[in-house]
Amino acid sequence: MDKRTFLKTSLMGMGGLVAAPFISNAGEKNNTSLLEPGSVADGTFELTPLPYSYNALEPHIDARTMEIHHSRHHASYVNNLNNALKGTGDNRPLEAIMNNISSYSTTIRNNGGGHFNHRLFWEVMSPDGGGTPHGELLTAINSSFGSFDKFRELFAGAAATRFGSGWAWLVATEGKLMVTSTPNQDNPLMDIVPANERGTPILGIDVWEHAYYLKYQNRRGDYVSAFWNVIDWNAVSAKLRNA
Ligand code: MN
Repeated sequence: MDKRTFLKTSLMGMGGLVAAPFISNAGEKNNTSLLEPGSVADGTFELTPLPYSYNALEPHIDARTMEIHHSRHHASYVNNLNNALKGTGDNRPLEAIMNNISSYSTTIRNNGGGHFNHRLFWEVMSPDGGGTPHGELLTAINSSFGSFDKFRELFAGAAATRFGSGWAWLVATEGKLMVTSTPNQDNPLMDIVPANERGTPILGIDVWEHAYYLKYQNRRGDYVSAFWNVIDWNAVSAKLRNA
């Protein structure tokens, strides 16, 4: 391609990008068409690239859901978080923001939580996932819950009974693991969570309808059952070691 063709192609590409928000703003509250997966946002935080393709978790989580969830929902949280932090001079890492969330706005609580939670969610799933945990993680699960089956029951229960939108978590605290759930985009790192439910989340499942509705409609339980087939226990083990 010669220079002129390249420039023309690039400008056409830019034209598409610039025009897109004005076309779709009317129908969408949180427009994200400027932010492609893996690109650098115009702020502090970046949309985490998925470590696998959108169809990699089929048939348990469908490609269309993954694509919309990552490239629109997660991208919106990142955009909104960056916009809310813009000009504040705040350069804290995301974890520090979570730990001090009571001193931030609701916008940062919702979108900072949204970024943290989804980043973790993509990390703890894999097309090579499923099976059972082992080693230190299995020992911790057995000593905290009695057995892996008992843990599964508690986690699935937390996911099923979280009313409306939210997350269920496996949380590392000093000396033991626990299962909790949070509403909206809150998470167990946040200082607005009751003290006895705070800790480091090492596994989480998104139970917002956007995470499962296209494939499972109202059957949240079926989605939670399918989730066990894609959990990357090595990633969860690594999070326990770093907790
Ligand atoms: Mn989500």
